[in-house]
Amino acid sequence: MSEEQTDVLITGAGLAGLTAGMFLAQQGVSVLVVERHPGTSLHPRASGQTPRTMELYRWAGIDGEVLGVSKRASQGLRITIASSLGGQVFHRILEDMSELDLSAATGVPWGMAGQDVVEPILLARAQKFGAQVRFSTTLVSFEQDDDGVTAELSDGRRIRAKYLVAADGGRSGIREQLGIPVDGIGAIGHSIGVVFEADLGDRLTPDVTDLYYLQNPRFTGALVNTDVPGRYVFATDYHPERGETADDYPHERLVELIRVATDLPELEPEIRWTGAWEMAARVARRFRSGRVFLAGDAAKVTPPTGGMGGNTAVGDGHDLAWKLAAVLRGEAGPGLLDTYDAERRPIAQLVVNTSLHNAKQRMAPELDLSGVGEPVDQTALTLGFRYRSTAVRTEDDDARPTENPNQPSGRPGFRAPHVPIVVDGVPKSTVDLLGRGWVLLANGPQWTSAAREVSASTGVPLTCLEVGTDFGDPEALFAARYGLEPGGMSLIRPDGIVAWRTTGPIEDPAGRLWDVLGDLLSR
Ligand SMILES: Cc1cc2nc3c(=O)[nH]c(=O)nc-3n(C[C@H](O)[C@H](O)[C@H](O)COP(=O)(O)OP(=O)(O)OC[C@H]3O[C@@H](n4cnc5c(N)ncnc54)[C@H](O)[C@@H]3O)c2cc1C
Repeated sequence: MSEEQTDVLITGAGLAGLTAGMFLAQQGVSVLVVERHPGTSLHPRASGQTPRTMELYRWAGIDGEVLGVSKRASQGLRITIASSLGGQVFHRILEDMSELDLSAATGVPWGMAGQDVVEPILLARAQKFGAQVRFSTTLVSFEQDDDGVTAELSDGRRIRAKYLVAADGGRSGIREQLGIPVDGIGAIGHSIGVVFEADLGDRLTPDVTDLYYLQNPRFTGALVNTDVPGRYVFATDYHPERGETADDYPHERLVELIRVATDLPELEPEIRWTGAWEMAARVARRFRSGRVFLAGDAAKVTPPTGGMGGNTAVGDGHDLAWKLAAVLRGEAGPGLLDTYDAERRPIAQLVVNTSLHNAKQRMAPELDLSGVGEPVDQTALTLGFRYRSTAVRTEDDDARPTENPNQPSGRPGFRAPHVPIVVDGVPKSTVDLLGRGWVLLANGPQWTSAAREVSASTGVPLTCLEVGTDFGDPEALFAARYGLEPGGMSLIRPDGIVAWRTTGPIEDPAGRLWDVLGDLLSR
């Protein structure tokens, strides 16, 4: 059997796999993505992109396209708990996007697009960057040794890769083969999802993501519009513990429930897709085993209450991509790859805890969360999350997992604060300076030659940008938001996270920078 070589083999072309593939290919890494389905997701599933996801998409040049496929993007999100669309409203969780307004914390808006319209954009961009993506191709088995991974595919090919990314979803066969246990309360509900088309008149507000959690005497479930006019997603709970199976919900019964949900007894919905789905909370005990990395739902499964499952899958994919690329190009030592688990697993746990608390409030008041950690504020989790690992020079340790992104501290481990800037006369955000290698943002001239020297001697792409010279700071916010006095600097990783800062000038800047960068990259 012939053997094909690639640097990274990715199993699964969902949000995690396509994101990892896209960003690896953008950095010139050879990557093959295999997906057992014939194409991308037909179901809108994880609708909604946080500004963090949109920042990552901006760095791939697709944020505009993602906004463009969702007319609802600029109009916002409404979340209601009710008995039916025309029935009693129990609680309005969110009236519009004003409560989620993060415009002070980022120059990038929320997206509202569904997975069915986003995945084709990721796919096209990944392929444009040079990723190979093969559909209708299943990873059948794999083995790893000290130097790489050998995988057998359903088309009879054998692939030899340096690393394998398991982006193979919540039932990850790769995670199972690796024997990595999962922790968490497990299944909290089972639902049948239905994508249907119908004329619902004015039952839902147009151009807004109008999500209803439904608590009706006939069923508990949800109904939401999609990016395609006249297309909706309905979900109803079913109960395996009472002996029910998905087969107990044939189309006629689902049509009946949709009529109850919409208060339209004559409605003739055209059902496009149905599928059973287990709502669960599980986090893998390790995100890495040797040369294999778990990403997205393979690493953690979270209830959808909070819309964070898809967004963390994107975050995992991006994190793995820049770290694998740095190691494969010889810029970093293999120790950098250990920071993937150290940084992303605590985030996964916070996402799961917070989503569980949301689920209890919105749809499952009986849920026993006594063993589950406290939730965190969702806007803080979105843009104020914190990494602790060897790839961050932590300044202090106040133990808090997040900070208020509207009052960023600029400390290492947090996202580099957004500051409105001007480059060549064009208004931008500091976010636009990041995402393509290491960046040193300086509050004074002493760092330019140090950065050039260190970049040349290490081969690590490192750009120094000085406020007032390389970018304008019209609102004079830069120094305060980054916590820098004159002569200070902030070293930002390729994922926009502050890795190290010196608040003022230091002696031997090139020498210190060389030492610290070496540590951060496990060289
Ligand atoms: C019905 C439904 C509704 C959802 N609603 C929401 C929501 O409202 N909000 C939210 O945030 N999240 C939601 N989710 C979850 C969200 O879709 C996931 O968190 C997100 O898709 C995770 O992306 P992923 O890439 O990790 O996994 P997936 O999207 O599951 O992709 C994994 C891929 O791996 C492929 N695969 C598996 N094994 C192999 C193999 N051996 N070889 C080749 N390919 C393989 C699968 O075919 C699949 O395409 C929903 C999920 C479902 C199923």
